[in-house]
Order: sequence, then C-alpha cells, then structure tokens
Amino acid sequence: MFDGLSGRLGDVLDKLRRRGSLSEADVDAAMREVRVALLEADVALAVVKQFVAQVKEQAIGQEVIRSVTPGQMVVKLVHDALVDMLSGEGGVEAEPDPMSLGIDIAHTPPVPILMVGLQGSGKTTTSAKIALRITKRERKKVLMASLDVYRPAAQRQLAILGEQTGVDTLEVVMGQKPVEIARRAMQAARVGGYDVVILDTAGRLHIDEVLMTEVAEVRALVNPHEVLLVTDAMTGQDAVNVAQEFNEKVGVTGIVLTRVDGDSRGGAALSMRAVTGVPIKLMGMGEKMDALEAFHAQRIAGRILGMGDVVALVEKAAETIEMDQAERVAKRMMEGKFDLEDMLAQIRQIKKMGDMKGLLGMMPGISKMQRQMAESKIDDNMMKRQEAIILSMTIKERRNPDLVKASRKKRIADGSGSNVPEVNKLLKQHQQMAVVMKKMKKMGGKKGLMGLLG
Ligand code: GDP
Repeated sequence: MFDGLSGRLGDVLDKLRRRGSLSEADVDAAMREVRVALLEADVALAVVKQFVAQVKEQAIGQEVIRSVTPGQMVVKLVHDALVDMLSGEGGVEAEPDPMSLGIDIAHTPPVPILMVGLQGSGKTTTSAKIALRITKRERKKVLMASLDVYRPAAQRQLAILGEQTGVDTLEVVMGQKPVEIARRAMQAARVGGYDVVILDTAGRLHIDEVLMTEVAEVRALVNPHEVLLVTDAMTGQDAVNVAQEFNEKVGVTGIVLTRVDGDSRGGAALSMRAVTGVPIKLMGMGEKMDALEAFHAQRIAGRILGMGDVVALVEKAAETIEMDQAERVAKRMMEGKFDLEDMLAQIRQIKKMGDMKGLLGMMPGISKMQRQMAESKIDDNMMKRQEAIILSMTIKERRNPDLVKASRKKRIADGSGSNVPEVNKLLKQHQQMAVVMKKMKKMGGKKGLMGLLG
C-alpha cells in the first residue's frame, strides 16, 4: 500500500514532467496522495488537514530541481516539513546522540521524574530503561517507586526490573495511597542519598478522571521537573486524545514513544506533537532494558512517509545542482563578472552551508570584505536581510546595479522591510566584491583566482 506512493505520485506527475516551479495543480495532485499516505500512517485527520494546508502553501512556487519530477519534489518538501514539525522549534540535530536522554535531571537531588500513561503503554519498562541509563551513563544513584496500588503485580514487576538492572526500588508497603508512597519515596531518597527518583504511576485503560486527579496530586506534591508521557506507537489516532488529556490535566514535559521497533508507521508521533506541542524525547525500541534511544525525527518522518528513496534522490539531485551553480559562479568570476544575482547565489550558498567563518574564506579574494563582515558582526540575520533586499529588486536591477538610484532604493527598502542606508550598504559591498572580481580577471583568470585564494 505504502510503497505505492512513489509510484502513484509518479503516475500523476510524470505527465507534468518539466522544469520550472511547482504550480498549484502539481501540488494539489501530489498532496492528494500525501494525504492518503498520512492517513494510512495513522496521523489524526485534523493534523493531516492542517499539515497538508501548511505544506501546500510553502510548496507552490518552489523551484523544481532539474532531474526530479514535481511529484518527487513535493515529497521532499513534505518530508522536510514533517521533520520540522516532529522536531519542533530549533529542530533536532540531524544525528542526535542515540544514547542521550534529553531529560532534565540537573537539579538539587533527589530529582523526581514522573512517568504517566495508559496501562500497557510500556510505562514500567520505560521507567526501568531510563533508570538504567541514568545509572550507567550519568553515574547517578536512582530510586524507582511504583505508585500503582491497584495492581500488586505492577509493583512486583517494577521490583523485578529493579533487580535485573541493579536499580533500587522503594520497599512496597501495602495499603498506602499513591501520594503517600510518593512522599515516602522522596524521603527515602533524601535519606539514602539518591540523585533521581522515578515514580511509575498507576496505568489506566483509558482516560479516567479519578486516576488523573491522583496523578495531579502526586505531581503537586513532588513538583517534578520532568513528567514523561509514555505512549505506544501503535495506538494511532487515539494517541492524540490521550496526550491532550494528560497534558491538560497533569502537564507533560516530554513524550516517550514505545514499540517503535514494531511495524507501526509512527503517525501517532506527528499527531501528538502537532496537537500538544510537547516534544517527543525518547523512543522505545524493544523489550530489552537497553532498547531506548533519543527521538530521531528524520527516521520517524521517513517512516510516516515511507518514501526514503525519493527523499534521498531529491537530496542528491539538489547537491549536484549546487555544484553546478558554484561552478557557474566561479566561471563568471573568472570572467570578471559579478552582479547582484551572483551575490544572491553566494549569500544563499553560505547561508545553507552554515559555518560562516570557514566559508567566507571560500569566496575568492574576499579577505578585505571578510574583515569588514567580521567587524560589522555578520550573522544569519544580516544575511537574511541582504537576501531580502536583493529579492526586492527586479531582475533588471540585479543584473545592472547601477540602475538602483534614490527612488528605487526607497522602493527596495520598503519591499524588504529594511531602510535606505542598509540598501546602500549592500550595494557598496557588492561594488567592492565586483572590483575584486575585475582585478582577478586582470591577474589572469585561473591563476589569479588561485593566487587570491591561496
Ligand atoms: P505498562 O503497563 O505501561 O507499565 O507497560 P509495561 O512496561 O508493563 O509494558 C507492557 C509490555 O510491552 C511488556 O511486555 C514490555 O516488555 C513491552 N514493551 C515495552 N516497551 C516496549 C518497546 O519499546 N518495544 C517492544 N517491542 N515492547 C515493549
């Protein structure tokens, strides 16, 4: 069913195979298939609708990279938007340390961590996995306590896992209420010199007001820095309600997605993230105690979309194009030509590549400008402004910067949300760069370029 998406998209869009930017019709056609794919991956309908609308807006007008079809291009855009949404603001590193817990335990000990979730979601297992990781990796002393007074088996299960992992568990005293157990756990931790206390609350089969109130009471008592909601990746649509309820009633700081080793598509992750805004921090990858990993947005996005091959293809094509562009710019430079379009291409290149200091050195003969830029504290925002200024010019102006006189400067400044002095500054920088390019040509083509670079 799902592998079919590439094929289906191909069918729809191969007919439209051509270069240029994505039209509304291209995007609409591709989005119909993406929509089905997301629903098949168990993403909640409301989330699918919102997501599709958002990506559609971003996609229309995007340039289609040569050698890929518009359909493939849309898939790549959808994938990137999925990663963004899953990783939230700031995004998750491309390859996060899989052993990292990403949870907050740097506080005055004992630091309580509250584990919540439905029965059978993997809460107890995950508690023990986290305890083991904190013990081994952080070299901290952990105490686990089960607050499940309804199922004695649950308390026994935690005790057994404690023995297996070598993590201490709070002695079971029958007849105590969850809040009392929590209080006793914190006390025992203080006396025993524990760094972290993991409180495994009672599971519930479904959202239950009484149990919810109980968890809220425990929360109020221990005031945890982390409340982790454990959810099963296989739950699908229901996950949204569960996450929303827990977040509203108890407040959740992070989600742990379990059974990611199974064959679920992981749509629940997207739904929960989108609806609650709570970050997904960890993934359970199996029943074993070491089967716990930091959440990996790209992996889950790939899985939800089921189209890693297409994404890789478009990325590869984009790399090739970038090389082509870089070559073109270099060639023009050697010819002593450098207009604002070339400058725009360079700004984008640098922006994309991130590491500015290293990259400024790659721009031929820019040592003077490099200094100036360093002095004027060049940063990403500055580049965004520069880009906006150039984009507010007409193509004619970009190719012939001399056209940009007073009235045009005002228009460009308004259009880009900057001001005339900033436009002047950009033009001056361009002029300086253009002078360098001319000099380079005089110095004799490639030799000159190499000389300047060296
Ligand atoms: P609780 O009721 O929420 O405390 O759930 P448990 O921790 O008792 O887990 C229920 C079952 O799910 C157990 O058999 C676990 O071994 C299993 N389990 C938990 N996490 C994972 C996981 O990430 N992958 C797989 N395959 N099984 C898991």
